Amino acid sequence: MNLNQVTLADVLTSYRGRAHSCRCGCKGTYRVTAENRAVASANRGYDHSDEDVSDRSVRQTLALIQHHNSFYPVEHGAKGSDGVEWFDLQLGDRDVTVYVADQEGRGDIVRKAFEREAGRVLAKRAALQADEFLPA
Ligand SMILES: [Zn+2]
Repeated sequence: MNLNQVTLADVLTSYRGRAHSCRCGCKGTYRVTAENRAVASANRGYDHSDEDVSDRSVRQTLALIQHHNSFYPVEHGAKGSDGVEWFDLQLGDRDVTVYVADQEGRGDIVRKAFEREAGRVLAKRAALQADEFLPA
């Protein structure tokens, strides 16, 4: 995706944190839009909390990266098998990133989350059945 064409609806997650540091959330903050909260949660594997939701913050982060695109090198990660691509900018000692998934990417994430959940149910059922046949 071209950075200039990215809209708020495409942004799965935005990130602001200390440059070149751990991305687990200990050195920065992830934000999601209300619209993409569920898909972002499915992509991460656990739910985003209410305090992670801020359309304003995600919009600001996207605008920051798009604005600086002409002056600073913005790194771009192409869309992976996870359906996500990203744009990353370093401003001083801060890293600013948006993780992006278009309509198709969001569909991929939802499908994978569904398959993962179905896999968990099947594994649990198989374990329960195995228990029944094992001697106590
Ligand atoms: Zn960390």
